[in-house]
Amino acid sequence: MDIDEISKHFIHVYNRSKLFVKGEGVYLYDDMGSKYLDMGAGIAVSALGYSNEEYKQGLKDQIDKLVHTSNLYFNEPSIKAAGYVTEATGLDRVFFTNSGTEAIEGAIKLARKYAYLKNKDSKGGIIAMEHSFHGRSMGALSVTGTKHYREPFEPLIGGVSFAKFNNLESVKALVTEDTCAIIMETLQGEGGIYPATQEFITGVRKLCDEKGILLILDEIQCGMGRTGKMFTYQHYGVKPDILTMAKALGCGVPVGAFAASEEVAKAMCPGDHGTTYGGNPLATAAVCKVFEIYKDKDIIKHVNEIAPYLKKKLETLKEQNNAIIKDIRGMGLMLGMELNIPANQVVTEALKNNLILISAGSNIIRFVPPLIIEKEHIDEMYAILKRILHEPYGKRGAEKFKKQN
Ligand SMILES: *Cc1c(COP(=O)(O)O)cnc(C)c1O
Repeated sequence: MDIDEISKHFIHVYNRSKLFVKGEGVYLYDDMGSKYLDMGAGIAVSALGYSNEEYKQGLKDQIDKLVHTSNLYFNEPSIKAAGYVTEATGLDRVFFTNSGTEAIEGAIKLARKYAYLKNKDSKGGIIAMEHSFHGRSMGALSVTGTKHYREPFEPLIGGVSFAKFNNLESVKALVTEDTCAIIMETLQGEGGIYPATQEFITGVRKLCDEKGILLILDEIQCGMGRTGKMFTYQHYGVKPDILTMAKALGCGVPVGAFAASEEVAKAMCPGDHGTTYGGNPLATAAVCKVFEIYKDKDIIKHVNEIAPYLKKKLETLKEQNNAIIKDIRGMGLMLGMELNIPANQVVTEALKNNLILISAGSNIIRFVPPLIIEKEHIDEMYAILKRILHEPYGKRGAEKFKKQN
């Protein structure tokens, strides 16, 4: 594979080094036939792994029937998928999108429309969190808490301020009578795998209730069973007014959604929002299959059984390499390993050793494997990481990193 040659027609926003052509279970195969253990799942998307027979059959059957009709009409898979989503979230109404970022766009629009109906002069203020990630479109970027993602594209949408995640006082300090929504990930992903504390999320919910502010939870990454419940907020005993989901929702077919309570959802009326493709029969057939397979195979029970094993193995690596591994954190099969060295160094080294890892921020490795992962795969990962992270390299790497920073 000649990287320069195959890269030349793409706008260069990714540094890609591999060409994968096939997947099977928790493994991907490159164009040379080499096999890789995947701890990234296409960025927390391929929860059912690769080449799941039932999933593939569901898609094939739908392709034979109907792929697209537009949202001017109902389609069968979307009716069923809407039922699954509302049942799983405890929310009342759903809108299907093509991506996570579009789910965020819709959530922001819904929150603003809701505020507008209450007060035509509403300025639609939104409080978001530092180090959050909500997507790359102009609206989603406006609430993303990383300055260097936002800055080159300003001016973005107005009225957004950033509080410190897990710091309730910093949120309270930003609330004004113009605040219409607070948006946050229940478990920050790109920002470095930081779960919300119970105190913080209960406090934010209470604040929202007192002030008539909507709580938007972004579970695009941490939803769909990854943390051991269908949605992460279900661990905390709180409920959002608006929820966004995507990534594992279609397990590879591009689909996202935002869902809301009846009270909030009814703020939208015909003409307020739309999408040509969103929720089309193929995409929602994928959503249906995903929910059905989760149920049949009790995927969430499996996550709860296997996740402690992954965490234990990562903790063991930390004990063995305390010069370079600073912290292990996260929930379920969404774990982070904070390093004293650049994460990319380890990601690159792992790839050379047939292990796919992804980073989150500059010094955190993010473990978001397919949810069907088994002990033997974790053992395989552990053996590779143990080899890569051995002390001499680790000590040298850590010193070098400290000097550079
Ligand atoms: C990936 C992600 C998004 C954006 O989703 P896209 O499908 O890439 O547009 C938004 N929020 C969170 C928490 C994400 O992890």
